[in-house]
Amino acid sequence: MTAPQAGPAHWAELDQDCVGLVRRARSYLDQIAPLITAADRDGTLPVEVIPGLLDAGFVRGAIGVRDGGLGLSHLQTALLMEEAGRCWASIRTTANILTLVAELLSAAGSDEQKQRFLRPLLAGERMGWFAITEPEAGSDTASLTTLADRLPTGSYRLTGRKAYITNASYGDFGVVLATVDPGLGARGITAFLVEQETPGVRVVARRQLSVRAASCCDVVLDGVVVPAGNMLGDVGRGLSLAMRAVNSGRLNVSAGCTGIAQAALEAASSHAVSRTQFGKPLAGFQLVQQLIADIAVQTNAARQVYQSAARLLDRGADARVECSMSKYFCSEAANQAATKAVQVLGAAGLMEGNVAERLFRDAREATIPEGTSQMQVLQIGRALLGVSAVR
Ligand SMILES: Cc1cc2nc3c(=O)[nH]c(=O)nc-3n(C[C@H](O)[C@H](O)[C@H](O)COP(=O)(O)OP(=O)(O)OC[C@H]3O[C@@H](n4cnc5c(N)ncnc54)[C@H](O)[C@@H]3O)c2cc1C
Repeated sequence: MTAPQAGPAHWAELDQDCVGLVRRARSYLDQIAPLITAADRDGTLPVEVIPGLLDAGFVRGAIGVRDGGLGLSHLQTALLMEEAGRCWASIRTTANILTLVAELLSAAGSDEQKQRFLRPLLAGERMGWFAITEPEAGSDTASLTTLADRLPTGSYRLTGRKAYITNASYGDFGVVLATVDPGLGARGITAFLVEQETPGVRVVARRQLSVRAASCCDVVLDGVVVPAGNMLGDVGRGLSLAMRAVNSGRLNVSAGCTGIAQAALEAASSHAVSRTQFGKPLAGFQLVQQLIADIAVQTNAARQVYQSAARLLDRGADARVECSMSKYFCSEAANQAATKAVQVLGAAGLMEGNVAERLFRDAREATIPEGTSQMQVLQIGRALLGVSAVR
């Protein structure tokens, strides 16, 4: 008995450019896959893999040629993220954050800022992070309180604390959102480029359940003086700048989750054909087939949902609702797929170092950042019904 064809059968739907792109990405990801077990166990990101990711089209793909990128389509960048998610969610999330930072710089950076931050990031020489969340401002981002005090010199002094910031312990600069006047609400929020070596910046890495090789950090800003030339975009435009990257961020998570579901399908299928109980392979039991068929259906549906949103974006549609639907559906689907894969593997699927155990942990994270499932639902509800359930 052989496993159902779980490999790249779905590539048949793609054109040759896309197939070439994902094939090269998969080949590089296969090369770095042997690093996963130790990096995940130790909670360390092997930053030396990043230049190879950039060469495979990650991060650079999302940036236009004028700014030194490859100008790939949304579908192509999402396909890359599916491959990353299938291999290793910590790498997918790393690529996602670097892409976000690059997109913000490309959208709002001055020529000088692009030379100083964007070009070196795309060359793999610098690594940036993005900080909006605070201990008391999560889904309600507009309530952030990190203060950007304007000094007589024109510089700004940042004071506050950011929370859950991906890879801040590996970066050398960050995009920090702070308010120039708490009385202005969302209209006071402004983006700043903060060099990590500036006095007053302190990064505290925390251990987390999911995406363990990527770090999750508190960033303390204790009177950090930032020159006026490091403001990214205009005063008060920080939130709308962040929203410019929201669609691609949600799409990238969706595609990465589809990769997790695909990996769950592969792990469950290969275990089911090789493990024997009651004198025959698990694959021969109808209830095990049900689990695996369910994973396959979820994976296929997730792929259709994210690719449909990506194609809409590529046609110039707003697609904000479709990206929300995609993030909601794919992140929940990855959780269901990974849970079922653990069930197929039995106790083995719960053991540290087993791929199903990692997929289960990594899927769990996906419904939280880039807007929780609940926030996606509220966004979809508002679009359908014209009523905000938040404020
Ligand atoms: C692994 C990881 C990486 C992250 N990386 C970054 C990063 O790089 N940069 C960054 O700035 N942030 C990052 N975050 C933070 C992330 O964006 C927030 O966790 C997220 O926005 C949710 O905020 P919260 O965790 O404070 O949850 P809360 O906002 O406190 O929500 C808690 C629960 O309440 C629900 N809830 C909240 N409001 C409502 C409502 N109005 N209606 C219904 N339900 C509601 C939520 O859906 C959730 O279930 C990361 C988080 C994680 C887990």
